[in-house]
Amino acid sequence: MENRSFYNEILTEHNIHPEFKFDMEDADIVLEGVNPSCGDDVWLKLKMDGDIISDGAFIGDGCAISQASADIMLGMVIGKKKDEAIKLADTFVKMIKGEASDEEIESLEEASALQDISHMPARVKCAVLGWRTLKEALDK
Ligand code: ZN
Repeated sequence: MENRSFYNEILTEHNIHPEFKFDMEDADIVLEGVNPSCGDDVWLKLKMDGDIISDGAFIGDGCAISQASADIMLGMVIGKKKDEAIKLADTFVKMIKGEASDEEIESLEEASALQDISHMPARVKCAVLGWRTLKEALDK
């Protein structure tokens, strides 16, 4: 029960007051991710300093889960190395599929609030949209 309201609180907070939802005009990497099954759309924008994600933002439309997940993600990956960010993305996807260990879930900090989505198959693509786009962007 407590978990459930924490989940709602995080989603609401990141939708009403997103920290990273704005247009970054001088980004080094720009990539769009779409989830047609829900109509979610995320434009991810990253600034790179060598191997490090020095700054990031996103713009987009979509359901509360897709937008909150992207906002939480940016808060976690800015300042991290490419490899670390990719590892977080892999762990997040694992959690959403219900395959992550407790330790792995813990390493996801605030994003772990979305773990219950593993029980909502229709929302899985919403939750992983930003992370999937991030991986794709960093792979280039
Ligand atoms: Zn969605």
